[in-house]
Amino acid sequence: MKANELPFTTDLKGKVAVVTGAGGVLCSLMAKALAACGAKVAVMDLHLVAAQAVVDEIKKDGYIAEAYEANVLKKESLMAAHDKIVKELGPCDILINGAGGNSPKASTTDEFYAPKVSEDTVTFFDLKEEGFEFVFNLNILGTLLTTQVFAADMLGKEGCSVLNISSMNAFTPLTKIPAYSSAKAGVSNFTKWLATHFAKEGIRVNAIAPGFFSTAQNKALLWNTDGTPTARTGKILNNTPMGRFGKPEELLGATLFLTDSKAAGFVTGVVLPIDGGFSAYSGV
Ligand code: NAD
Repeated sequence: MKANELPFTTDLKGKVAVVTGAGGVLCSLMAKALAACGAKVAVMDLHLVAAQAVVDEIKKDGYIAEAYEANVLKKESLMAAHDKIVKELGPCDILINGAGGNSPKASTTDEFYAPKVSEDTVTFFDLKEEGFEFVFNLNILGTLLTTQVFAADMLGKEGCSVLNISSMNAFTPLTKIPAYSSAKAGVSNFTKWLATHFAKEGIRVNAIAPGFFSTAQNKALLWNTDGTPTARTGKILNNTPMGRFGKPEELLGATLFLTDSKAAGFVTGVVLPIDGGFSAYSGV
């Protein structure tokens, strides 16, 4: 078989892709990859400056993208961005719900319960309600509201899909980060619910579950202030059969596959681990 006889290539020409959290480390790359495959990309973020910097790079490469400021926790902000996107790029065909993250207010300092020894220690009993609320809202409510606003464009159209970003901790929770683990488990579960709910409309809904990628979000957990690896980094690498952190660009093959309805037309409700084997390994 010759390359041009393959049943598909990633050609997203004519598609409009909306990526939230696209000013960040992982989703900025996804936005760039979608644009490189021909999609018109709405690069959306809470911070317009970050989104604009990504758009400038995409445009420099000769592809199509525009920056939009929106808060995934405010429906009116999403609707205002939606109106602009429809006018400037067209209705949405592909949505990546990338905005997400953790909060130190929802993290314990110790892996296993131990009585409080100093004011700096956060035990299970010190966890803040507002920390949990923030993390659940950002990861779950942000996915719900954004999907409500943009999946409406997909009704009655062919080749539309939503990609959510779950995490390794959705399969087995990671110590110290109970809110983020349970919120991402919620994202995986919600992905399957949405996939079922929209299946008859032809809207596919999948998720990727990245393993460990060293980015701004988890910097404090992985690296000491002097740049040396934390003990947690050692444990992560020992439990990742491939023995290293992922490189953000290693998410792109799965991203393009799952969002391209020619390649993944019969794939919906999947949560795909991209983790160097972390979720396959029992540690023994
Ligand atoms: P990041 O912090 O670099 O980027 C997140 C982006 O989301 C930021 O640009 C931020 O401004 C934006 N954002 C935050 N709140 C927002 C809101 N209310 N409305 C709109 N935008 C908002 O994070 P990242 O590491 O690139 O992570 C991207 C996604 O991947 C997240 O969902 C994260 O939970 C998930 N993830 C990351 C890792 C990792 O190792 N970094 C692993 C698994 C999953």
